[in-house]
Amino acid sequence: MASYELACNLPGNEANMENMVRAADPEAVFGTGSADYRIEITVSGTKEGLTCRGWIGGRQTAEVTFTDREIGDPRYGMDAFAQRQKEMVRKGVLLLLQRTGRPVLPWGILTGVRPSKIYHYLRDLGFSPAEVKEKLEDQFMLGPEKAALLAAVGEVQRPFFQKVAGRISIYVGIPFCPTKCHYCSFASYPLTTHAHLVEGFLTALAYEIEEIGKVLTRLGLTPATLYIGGGTPTVLSRAQLGDLLARIHRCFPLAELLEYTVEAGRPDTLDRDKLKLLKDYGVTRVSVNPQTLNPRTLARIGRQHTVAQLEAAVALVRALDFPCLNMDMITGLPGETEEDWDYSLEKLLAYRGENITVHTLAPKRAATWDFSEVKGEIAAERVAGWLEASKQRLHTAGYYPYYLYRQRRSVAEQENCGYTLPGREGIYNIIMMEERATVLGLGGGGMSKWVDPVNFQVSRTPNPKCPATYRERIKELVAEKVAKLMASVN
Ligand code: SF4
Repeated sequence: MASYELACNLPGNEANMENMVRAADPEAVFGTGSADYRIEITVSGTKEGLTCRGWIGGRQTAEVTFTDREIGDPRYGMDAFAQRQKEMVRKGVLLLLQRTGRPVLPWGILTGVRPSKIYHYLRDLGFSPAEVKEKLEDQFMLGPEKAALLAAVGEVQRPFFQKVAGRISIYVGIPFCPTKCHYCSFASYPLTTHAHLVEGFLTALAYEIEEIGKVLTRLGLTPATLYIGGGTPTVLSRAQLGDLLARIHRCFPLAELLEYTVEAGRPDTLDRDKLKLLKDYGVTRVSVNPQTLNPRTLARIGRQHTVAQLEAAVALVRALDFPCLNMDMITGLPGETEEDWDYSLEKLLAYRGENITVHTLAPKRAATWDFSEVKGEIAAERVAGWLEASKQRLHTAGYYPYYLYRQRRSVAEQENCGYTLPGREGIYNIIMMEERATVLGLGGGGMSKWVDPVNFQVSRTPNPKCPATYRERIKELVAEKVAKLMASVN
């Protein structure tokens, strides 16, 4: 573990520099005084051109100087100037760290969850896809594969922005699962210990759906997409699931819905009756998530379902003719070898799900696992290669990437990427990641994102993840949401 002392002539860059150091050295600690390294960054210049000078001292020493005249391009406004200063600070830090032996980062100075936002920002300014790709490699220091991936995803997404412009989408969170997977850091309460909270939670959710439904109808707002996620919504009993779907159907104006997704992540929660309910209520996209097709790994990660249950669930989804089946996988799971990964991918491809989402394991503190204990079993140095090979394999099988995001602490600093067969993009995923349209978040852990349709500024209001807290605060949460909804149309 190395300690760092950071200094920059531009005020307000402490967190910016720390984020960059942490991306290159996840164990870094920060302070002043007797740190192992001191990094100093100076950015100077005008809108005609900026120069960054960086120096690292301590255990090792290096210097960098680079200039950016590109910011003088008239397509950039003055807000871009401040942003570019920050980007140059990060680039200075990363160059210094690389010159003193830290690994090259595949996503360069893009340390955030949504690297595609920068792609759309530059395209909106009027730069061509080729120009943006070049900038991603030069200014943002992305590896050529990641720059190409981002450009491909960005161009697939842009037509969808028009389709959902000015329209809301709805997320409903059901924060329960049968049991908790060892790696999971989501809002997920296992029924084994929290079943007593389900009825109270559903009562509160019913109230939220009814109140929000009334306002949507009054304001003439018709959702573009609806997504029931979690947790595992299909962990509810048939009666509970039926009530929920019926209420949604009755309360929300769904006549112009483009897509209706239900996460059914754990195949052992599915049966024909539940899936028939989903189908009857107009669900168009179902997500059944094996994460791995390797029985040994399934047991190792605590999924507590079998491959046979997955196969039975997929067969039911196909028999009921849902337009879109999504299946999630995770790369970098403990104990997995290249053969395991290839085996899972080939098995998964055989199901021919319309969407396949390839995640990279992200060891989080909120998970049940103490990742320091399984770290030695994770093939971190191989994961980037597996992902690149998977991209080629998926391409050969007719899939292309349509959305992506990154998580902090992802193994080998990789990404999560959704692939699709032609014309089957999961629209909600694009909306959620790119934040070009408002999403109302209902239920446990539901995050409402209020997007300004002109400048795409986002403000967030979260529902509590805890089902008991959600129930206690439901009136106040709904009142706040209703007030924001009313304000958003005035
Ligand atoms: S099924 Fe999904 S949400 Fe539930 S515990 Fe496992 S990873 Fe978490």
